[in-house]
Amino acid sequence: MRCPFCGNIDTQVKDSRPAEDHVAIRRRRFCPACGGRFTTYERVQLRDLVVIKTNGRREDFDRDKLERSIRMAMQKRPIDPERIDQMISGIVRRLESMGETDVASKQIGEIVMETLARIDTVAYVRFASVYKNFQEADDFDKFVSELRPSEKDKPKTEE
Ligand SMILES: [Zn+2]
Repeated sequence: MRCPFCGNIDTQVKDSRPAEDHVAIRRRRFCPACGGRFTTYERVQLRDLVVIKTNGRREDFDRDKLERSIRMAMQKRPIDPERIDQMISGIVRRLESMGETDVASKQIGEIVMETLARIDTVAYVRFASVYKNFQEADDFDKFVSELRPSEKDKPKTEE
């Protein structure tokens, strides 16, 4: 796994353990070249999903993108980050289990709203209000592009 900080490809796994109730393996990695530390997650992927956007464009489903939009809605909410990871995995699992490789971005938005509605009303309202706007703007991506660039590209790090 390439180091996200210096690009060195020879990084070391320092620790591996189950996460999200054994749905994922969390690995802590260390880069001997720059001393950087980062975390990766290994998850089952049942199928390669393709998102069909409202403008008809197709793009590979990106779990990180979904995660960013959900974390933005969950910002400062008293919800355990592990719970959010589980929630995201649950949404992805549902998408993968629908039996189709192609998924409409609208369908994804609806599943996210349905899930958020059960977990946190404030996050639900936030997501729904942004979602409604990008339905009007016909672009699901608007949500993500509004994220600050510094947050968008920051790799997961921890001490
Ligand atoms: Zn490095």
